[in-house]
Amino acid sequence: MSNFSDWQDRMLRAVWRHGEQLPEEVLTWMAELYDEHGEVPEPEFCDLWTTRTFALARSAFETVARSAEQDTGKAATGDDFRYIDYVRDPDLSPVGVVHIKSAEVSTPDSAEVLGAVAEGVQEFVMSHHRVTWPVCGEHDRGLHVGYFHETAVWKCTGGMAKGHVVRAIDPAVQL
Ligand SMILES: [Zn+2]
Repeated sequence: MSNFSDWQDRMLRAVWRHGEQLPEEVLTWMAELYDEHGEVPEPEFCDLWTTRTFALARSAFETVARSAEQDTGKAATGDDFRYIDYVRDPDLSPVGVVHIKSAEVSTPDSAEVLGAVAEGVQEFVMSHHRVTWPVCGEHDRGLHVGYFHETAVWKCTGGMAKGHVVRAIDPAVQL
């Protein structure tokens, strides 16, 4: 086990995440990677981290764009648009970063990636189509990305106390 801890320690330094509280999903992925492939070297680990982040972002974009289109009738994609960008610049970061409008994410955690992509698509729908999305049916106001346990959700600030969770960002997920 100490070998795993040493390796994990080295890898988190390599991706500049040492000392951070990482999501359970990322730690599980690292443990599985180690079980399967042993001590993957640092450059390869940075590649795997980046590939996973980018793949999660592509799939999150499909999910969120579809959900936005279903709700608003407006497409959040198209060949003329360039508001989602996959950047890998070793001068800036050892791992790739996904930019979508003013949101960005570089951690291979599905909830964090989904939350960032949802913020970006929401911003796009607002700036390009002039439509507030999504809206709380109860309070008639725009929702915000939040997290409920380890799930990315749409939250409303209306109502009593500290607002309420409206639904999961991924329509396939029931809270
Ligand atoms: Zn509400």
